[in-house]
Amino acid sequence: MPFDAARLMEDTEAFCQEVRPAEELAYAERKFNDQVVPLAKKHNLLGMNIGPEYGGRGADNVSYFTALTRIGREGTTVRTFFSGHLSIGAYPIQTWGSDALKKKYLPAAARGEKVLAFGLTEPDAGSNPREMTTTYEKKGDRYVLNGVKYLISNGGIADAVIVFGYPAGAVGTGRISAFVLDTDQPGFEKESFAVNAKMGMPTSNTAMFEMHEAVVPAENLLGAEGDGFRVAMGTLVSGRLSVAAGCLGVIEDCLTETIEYAKVRKQHGKEIARHQLVQDHIAHIEMDRVASESMVLRAAEMKDRSAAHPGDKELARRADLLAAQAKFFATNAAWDAADRAVQVFGGRGWSTLYRPGRHLMDVRVCRIYEGTDEILKLKIAAAVLGKEWEAFK
Ligand SMILES: Cc1cc2nc3c(=O)[nH]c(=O)nc-3n(C[C@H](O)[C@H](O)[C@H](O)COP(=O)(O)OP(=O)(O)OC[C@H]3O[C@@H](n4cnc5c(N)ncnc54)[C@H](O)[C@@H]3O)c2cc1C
Repeated sequence: MPFDAARLMEDTEAFCQEVRPAEELAYAERKFNDQVVPLAKKHNLLGMNIGPEYGGRGADNVSYFTALTRIGREGTTVRTFFSGHLSIGAYPIQTWGSDALKKKYLPAAARGEKVLAFGLTEPDAGSNPREMTTTYEKKGDRYVLNGVKYLISNGGIADAVIVFGYPAGAVGTGRISAFVLDTDQPGFEKESFAVNAKMGMPTSNTAMFEMHEAVVPAENLLGAEGDGFRVAMGTLVSGRLSVAAGCLGVIEDCLTETIEYAKVRKQHGKEIARHQLVQDHIAHIEMDRVASESMVLRAAEMKDRSAAHPGDKELARRADLLAAQAKFFATNAAWDAADRAVQVFGGRGWSTLYRPGRHLMDVRVCRIYEGTDEILKLKIAAAVLGKEWEAFK
């Protein structure tokens, strides 16, 4: 069946309307929102961008990121689940997995039988993943992994995680490889962080896990041995764009909430929307929205062009750069929009009972994960200065 973009948006809208009360309740109780997966399954959203030959809907990038924008309005937590499961979970399997590996994981992921996650970060390897210390050793028809992964979205609920490591004895010198690791085996130990130890997104699952002689069948290697860094960086293009799209949704929600509130709240004898300094905030949020929307759309269109010409390195380079630019811009714009929305709500804005305050706390992480502000600025600067001016390798 050909991909139906209108149907995807209808299903996304229905999902969003059902997930909102569940998210509000979970937020009030500061606990994991266990309704996201069942509701996404009900509305057939767990395989949005997975190919139809592997049980997904086969959404193009523009449609997929438009759906993530709508989901982003429900909060950064809800969108982060989809990023972990699809943008950085299913995407590398679909892009670098063998046909057998795709058949093993993607239909189950699309049906909601397997939740996916992406484990690159370690306690001592964040902005520079090359500083990781996870190792693997090939033993017959399997790989054996040892190491720790840290701050992994969906890490405590995932059935399979994309993990990365060096060959044993060659940490920092060998070439990183990428694997799909099942979490239901004895060598995999997961520990979810206490929800109250987080500044925002109390309803999300962020976990660390340890691998002690964790076994991966040889066919669960992504690409060839040594391809891991390429897999990680290629996956981050998809991940960054999903963060940018989600942040656009956050800005849209901040705008809707701010307009609604400012038109009814009265101070100094009139609705606060009539005060010029309140209109200044509203104008800024609208400009955050318009500029982010065009950057996300441009980056998604380029990703579609690049996907249509897989061997074209120039298109891939442009898609990578536009995704980094969209992510840097939209995450900062969302932070600004949420801050302004809080200001317009006054004392109520500061309360987590209202949406702007929750957006402000939740969206802050978007300037950290999938490439910090600083790393993205270095990447953007190197693109205009020239490769020989790269401030980091
Ligand atoms: C809620 C949450 C969810 C996450 N989900 C995932 C996930 O699903 N999978 C995953 O693999 N990771 C995930 N992460 C980890 C995230 O990607 C890292 O936190 C991020 O890459 C930054 O690494 P770090 O925290 O180690 O900071 P560090 O790398 O220690 O950086 C600290 C500061 O130094 C700056 N810095 C570092 N190097 C340079 C440099 N060369 N030049 C200038 N400044 C520099 C950074 O920009 C930052 O400001 C998640 C994190 C959070 C908080």
